Amino acid sequence: MRGKGIIHALDVEDIDKAFKIAVDVKDYVEMIKISYPMIIRNGSWVIEKIKEITGLPVLACFKIADIPEISKRIMKETIDKDADAVTLHGFVGRKTLEECIKLADKFGVETYVVTEMSHDDADYFLNRELLTQVSERIARVAKELGATGIVAPATKPQRVKKFREIVGSDMIIISPGIGAQGGKVGDAILAGADYEIIGRSIYTAPDPKKKAREMYLTLQERLREVKEESVLH
Ligand code: C5P
Repeated sequence: MRGKGIIHALDVEDIDKAFKIAVDVKDYVEMIKISYPMIIRNGSWVIEKIKEITGLPVLACFKIADIPEISKRIMKETIDKDADAVTLHGFVGRKTLEECIKLADKFGVETYVVTEMSHDDADYFLNRELLTQVSERIARVAKELGATGIVAPATKPQRVKKFREIVGSDMIIISPGIGAQGGKVGDAILAGADYEIIGRSIYTAPDPKKKAREMYLTLQERLREVKEESVLH
């Protein structure tokens, strides 16, 4: 996956509703991200089904965070269920990341390492300074181990900018926190991300298709403005 666009976080447990939304938004997003609530209620077969009805890749946002052996087995099961990409927590340690990335690479599955979370409370246990140090180290290790990309918070565009400086241009940055968590469409991409992850703003909208289209167009407009500005200067 490479380009600039939206990943829809389809955090919808009612599977008929989820399938309908997936089809409704498919022309305006590049990937569908699914997570535990949907899988726990319905089972992992939904990964393949979403791929089939949308033609889009599916990111299993399992934020793997266990000892290396178990993490590897979670990764293997997820690969077997046909996920195209998987998220992993970085804080668990280098070994877990290493094992999971190696396995995913073997099957051509993308890996995205969470550097820091996007919500307000993310610095509750580590103060901001420590969190910054830890998350930047996670980003460096993710790059060193050959992860496809990292997850960085759209709620803090300055942090996205910093992460881009750290990982360089080869890695993909996906960024949650747009809409419901406060970020504006385009904020993360303009700060250096490749994809903005948007969930509630789309799937809770009265008309998810219309909302996804609006957000897609807003993003295109903001990207165009920046391009025009850079040509003028
Ligand atoms: O509904 P909303 O747009 O806030 O959804 C954000 C999505 O991104 C959720 O699926 C959440 O699990 C995920 N996420 C996040 N922050 C991270 C990593 C993933 O919000 N650091």
